[in-house]
Amino acid sequence: MDEEIEIRMESRIAPPPLTCPKCQELLPPGLGEIQCTMCDSKVRVEHEVTRKKWKEEKISCPQCDKVLVVGVDKRPANLQCASCSHNFTLHPNVPRVEVTCPGCDRRLRMKQKPGTRSIDCPACETKFTVKF
Ligand SMILES: [Zn+2]
Ligand SMILES: [Zn+2]
Ligand SMILES: [Zn+2]
Repeated sequence: MDEEIEIRMESRIAPPPLTCPKCQELLPPGLGEIQCTMCDSKVRVEHEVTRKKWKEEKISCPQCDKVLVVGVDKRPANLQCASCSHNFTLHPNVPRVEVTCPGCDRRLRMKQKPGTRSIDCPACETKFTVKF
C-alpha cells in the first residue's frame, strides 16, 4: 500500500517552511514567487543557502546510475546525463508528514500540503480529516 513508490526524481533539499505573511498559513515549498494556496497572495521567497545547495546537489542518473552534480539553482530542473544522454526532471522536494489513523492506529505518510485534507485509510477504510 505504499503510495510513495513513484519513478520520479525528487530533490533531497527543501527550502525552509515559511508561512504566508498575510494569513499565516503554510506556503507551498519553493523559491521565487510563491502563491499562497489559502489567500492567493503572491509572496517572494528567497533563500540563498537553499539555492546554493540546489546547485551543488548530487543525484544519480535514473538510467545509468552515474552520479551527476545538478548545477542548476532552481527546482524543477531539467537535466541531461553527461554519460548516457538520458533526459530527466528533478522535481522539488515535497515534505512528508506522518499521521495516525484513528481507526487502526496505522502510521500513514503523505505529502504535506497546506489546508485540510480528507484521508481514506488504505488499510481499514476509516475516513478522517487532518489539518496542516
Ligand atoms: Zn496567505
Ligand atoms: Zn545516465
Ligand atoms: Zn486505518
